[in-house]
Amino acid sequence: MKQINASIITIGDELLIGQTIDTNSAFIAQELNKIGVWVRRRVAVGDAWDDIWQALDEESQLADIVIITGGLGPTADDITKPLLCKYFGGNLVVNEDVLKHVKYLFEQVYRRTGIMLERNLKQAEVPDVCTVLHNARGTAPGMLFKKGGRVTISLPGVPHEMKGLMTDQVIPRLLKEFEMPVILHRTAFTSGAGESMIAEHIKEFETALPSHIKLAYLPGYGMVKLRLTAKGDTKSTLEKELNDQFEQLKSLVKQWLVTDTDENLEVVIGRILKEKNKTVATAESCTGGYIAHLITSVAGSSAYYKGSVVSYANETKENILGVPHSTLLSAGAVSEETVTQMVKGAIEKLNTDFAVATSGIMGPDGGTQKKPVGMVWIAAGNKEKVVAKEFHFRFDRERNIRQTAHTALDFVRKFIIANS
Ligand code: ATP
Repeated sequence: MKQINASIITIGDELLIGQTIDTNSAFIAQELNKIGVWVRRRVAVGDAWDDIWQALDEESQLADIVIITGGLGPTADDITKPLLCKYFGGNLVVNEDVLKHVKYLFEQVYRRTGIMLERNLKQAEVPDVCTVLHNARGTAPGMLFKKGGRVTISLPGVPHEMKGLMTDQVIPRLLKEFEMPVILHRTAFTSGAGESMIAEHIKEFETALPSHIKLAYLPGYGMVKLRLTAKGDTKSTLEKELNDQFEQLKSLVKQWLVTDTDENLEVVIGRILKEKNKTVATAESCTGGYIAHLITSVAGSSAYYKGSVVSYANETKENILGVPHSTLLSAGAVSEETVTQMVKGAIEKLNTDFAVATSGIMGPDGGTQKKPVGMVWIAAGNKEKVVAKEFHFRFDRERNIRQTAHTALDFVRKFIIANS
């Protein structure tokens, strides 16, 4: 089967100067990869006519699919639309469906009063040589051009709009337009071992994999996801082959396996708590509420999460969570004794089955020889028992906070499984 190649061109001066991080091309690449399209190049260009033209020319020679984002808006620097119109030899005409949609958004959704500006109405103009892709989330429509067996698609730069268009319009159309290979993924989520340790442990399995099944290591905070990707022509055969390999992989890494689905830790914990009909609370010092944020980013978390005491100051640890003044004086805030009491205090105050607590030195200052930057105590417990562990992280402040939060989630996950 012929390999389908794609190029992604992102447009905007803000991307070149680093003011906006180009997340669009990463998302598009992931979506294309899922359907078996190989992204050969990703190019960023500024809002300059000649540069966009040149990028389009160059990428069109290399790719079957060219996807462009940005430069479609109502402002003067948005030149993508007239450029594409000229490039593909068309004229700008008002599209009645887009016009209706733009008016509907202004009147019903944005509730704007007054007359719509000419520049907003202009959003309904599209080249008469393109297929319009309905943008349910915004005013600038997507546009699809076909020339010489190649497809060029232009999407708005606003990530939320671009994502909606990719999912609802672009992917289904590309699947119809090109014959794609079958691509299947299975992901195992592990924690407690680094990439290199896992790689060493499964090296024979990895070398024995057939060439159409690839293994990817996707490291995150305190965890590594292992993703097997299989590529072929027949879904049923491929599925069986992939499942067999995945079962082997799972049994090899079973001591570190968190789940065999592609989920985040906060989702996994939520599922476990829901199944057991139990609740959890957090008592956070150095993570400042970040664990609470992760847990509550899961829809439906109110079923098992009751809240957090962000006890950043010693005074709060003492007055709200009941950490004895003497403990704070003798053992200090970053200690086994303190996090243990923080867990007990959170369970009592928030009336939950479980709690998890963190206290540590995130840096860049505040470290001592005995308690260096990156030192963290984490505790998890229920009404009967609390376990605590000392960790040492080696990153900058932001990463230390994230690492601590994910480690704490995994710590309480293990506690819940072992104690219910
Ligand atoms: P609109 O029609 O809403 O004006 P547009 O197609 O003109 O969209 P831009 O004006 O280029 O898009 O960008 C709109 C917003 O999207 C800006 O906030 C910009 O920073 C952001 N954006 C643009 N391109 C990207 C990208 N590649 N990755 C992430 N964000 C982006």
